[in-house]
Amino acid sequence: MTINRVGVIGAGTMGNGIAHVFSRSGFNVVLCEVEQRFLDRGLETIAKNLDREVAKNKITAADKAAALGRITPVLERSRLVDCDLVVEAATEKLEIKTEIFRDLDRLMKPEVILASNTSSISITKIAALTKRPDRVIGMHFFNPVPMMKLVEVIRGLATSQATFETVRDLAIKVEKTPV
Ligand code: NAD
Repeated sequence: MTINRVGVIGAGTMGNGIAHVFSRSGFNVVLCEVEQRFLDRGLETIAKNLDREVAKNKITAADKAAALGRITPVLERSRLVDCDLVVEAATEKLEIKTEIFRDLDRLMKPEVILASNTSSISITKIAALTKRPDRVIGMHFFNPVPMMKLVEVIRGLATSQATFETVRDLAIKVEKTPV
């Protein structure tokens, strides 16, 4: 499956870093939060971290502008509908993730992969909230996301091989090392 547009839920410590690496690698990103101030803060952090990469000659000022231009900040989850994959990086609380995954499962096309950046909640448990447990997977980035190379790709009991391969390949496309 070709992934062009990635949804990211949560623009906190991890979510803004995840949006940063996808947009820097050329993906369009729809970044979804619950309040405008969290979106603003997340985008400010992304701009600051991209500035740091410009200062280190890792990217150009034009790359920075292009990366920021690929991020669409939204407050309505329904605006994720055109995304090919969603990475959830919201607060680490089961009730929050439960609401998000049930809603995403209702909202997103059946082929869309739903990934969670959770550090401690079972992927099998999250997947079981949906009607697409074969397309639910863990994509666990490390803090600070733009710097840390490792991404753990975590299968639930029902995660399909195709889902695993798509997410593993995606991690490589954003210049990470999947394990
Ligand atoms: P954080 O508190 O910095 O950010 C979480 C963000 O999610 C907040 O901005 C909050 O407003 C937002 N949010 C809450 N409910 C939401 C909803 N319904 N829709 C959209 N946004 C919502 O937390 P974090 O450290 O970024 O952690 C996010 C996830 O990443 C957690 O699952 C955590 O376990 C995991 N994680 C964290 C680290 C780390 O070092 N911080 C490392 C790896 C994985």
